[in-house]
Amino acid sequence: MRMRNKPWAEDFLLQHDDIVSIDLARKDHIVDWFDQVQPIHIEVGSGMGRFITEMAKAHPEINYIGIERDKNVMIRIVEKAVEQNIRNLRLLTVDAEKLTEIFNEGEIDRIYLNFSDPWPKARHAKRRLTHENFLKVYETILDKDGEIHFKTDNQALFEYSIESMSHYGMKLKNINLNLHDNEPEDNIRTEYEDKFSNKGFRINRLEARF
Ligand code: SAM
Repeated sequence: MRMRNKPWAEDFLLQHDDIVSIDLARKDHIVDWFDQVQPIHIEVGSGMGRFITEMAKAHPEINYIGIERDKNVMIRIVEKAVEQNIRNLRLLTVDAEKLTEIFNEGEIDRIYLNFSDPWPKARHAKRRLTHENFLKVYETILDKDGEIHFKTDNQALFEYSIESMSHYGMKLKNINLNLHDNEPEDNIRTEYEDKFSNKGFRINRLEARF
C-alpha cells in the first residue's frame, strides 16, 4: 500500500502514544498497555485498518494489536481507533521482522495476515510475510495452540505460502479457494479484499499452526 508521504505523520503518531507505539518504544510493556489482561491477536500489515478495528469492536474479550510499518498508512488506523474510542486495540509502527524484540515467547494467541504484499519477483521472496524467516518469528511469539489466519486474492502468493508453511512443518486446515462463494457471516472484509473481490478476483483463505 503506497500513500503520499506526510511530513507530520511521526508527530501525529507521537501525540497518540496511548494507543500507537513507534518502533520498539513499548518493549516489555505490551500487557500493561491494555485495560484488561485477555488473549492477544495481532494483524501483520494492517493497511488502513478496517479489519483490525472491526474485529476489536466485534470481540471486546480479545486484545488486538495492528502492526503496520508505514507511518503514513498508520495514521488512518489511529484516526479510526480514536473516533470510535476502541479500547481493546493498540498499534505498532514496526517491521514484522522485529516482532521477537517486542513480544515475549508464546505471548500471542493468533496472527492475521490479510492481503500481504505478493512480491512476485523470486529475488524478493524473503520479503513475503510467509517466507520461512517470518514463520520463525511467528513461531516464537505464538502460543503453542496459536494459529495464523491468512487471506489473499493473489494465487501465486497463496500457492507459495502453502508450500512455505508445509515445508516448515506447519499443519494447514480450512483451506478455502473461494471465500466469498458462501461467505461466512463473521468474515470481516479488509479494504483490499473488497477492492479485489469487486474486480472479480477469488479470495483464498487458510488457517495454519506450528
Ligand atoms: N491488510 C490490509 C488490507 O487487506 O487491506 C493492507 C494490505 S497491503 C497490500 C499490505 C500492508 O502490509 C501495507 O500497508 C504494508 O505497509 C504492510 N507491510 C508489508 N510488509 C510489512 C512488514 N514487513 N511489516 C509490517 N507491515 C508490513
